[in-house]
Amino acid sequence: MQELISQGIVLRSLDYHDNDKIITILTPEHGRLTAILKGVKKVTAKMKFASQVFCYAQFKLVGKGEMLTVSGATEIESFFDIVQDYKAMRAGSAMLEIADGVSFIHEPDHLLFSGLLRALETLSKTETDPDVVLMRFALGVFKITGYAMNLRTCGTCGKSLNADIVRFDVETGEFTCIHCSKGSYIPVSPRTLEVMQNLPKLEFDQLENIVITDTEAREFKTIIRANFACRFGKNLKTLSSV
Ligand SMILES: [Zn+2]
Repeated sequence: MQELISQGIVLRSLDYHDNDKIITILTPEHGRLTAILKGVKKVTAKMKFASQVFCYAQFKLVGKGEMLTVSGATEIESFFDIVQDYKAMRAGSAMLEIADGVSFIHEPDHLLFSGLLRALETLSKTETDPDVVLMRFALGVFKITGYAMNLRTCGTCGKSLNADIVRFDVETGEFTCIHCSKGSYIPVSPRTLEVMQNLPKLEFDQLENIVITDTEAREFKTIIRANFACRFGKNLKTLSSV
């Protein structure tokens, strides 16, 4: 039996047997881990908090292989306020799904972990638009996974993008000029492109004054979903009805 102690953020939680839950946790040193929380659905269960998504805690895990057992958990910070605001909950859920989709079992990923943690803190503790936080997080994830979005030049001919006529090619995951656009594309408005170009330069605590319209947020989320499918072959369910 191995014992492992690590900070973690709960990405997913599923019912298991009558009283148990299986949780998926993102940790900095061990990547993504899956563990059983035994008896957690009983009224008297002490670790109930650890079965909630968005829970940020210090976990003690025992076992071998892919399925561990939670033997202890101490809450570090509660992000419960995220689920009390619909828009924050939607954006936060998308961030958890993105982190789940790009992380690997037992592979350290300090950048992904600290990015997710900072994004959740921003969602929970500030008035920043949740969709702007999601946008910043997603652009950061594409960058650290080696798929930084090219937001300045056409992915085909290499010329500078003219903000008035930019398209996002859903087959290649590249922005293109109107001349190089072929097949299925998402039209990108000048303002959406401008915000996306500025975001990677900003830290999470510098996003508070960025205002975007619902249309721009929708456009952005459609691009994220298409790029995620293109780069990782996975459909983001949390962004499928934006
Ligand atoms: Zn072009």
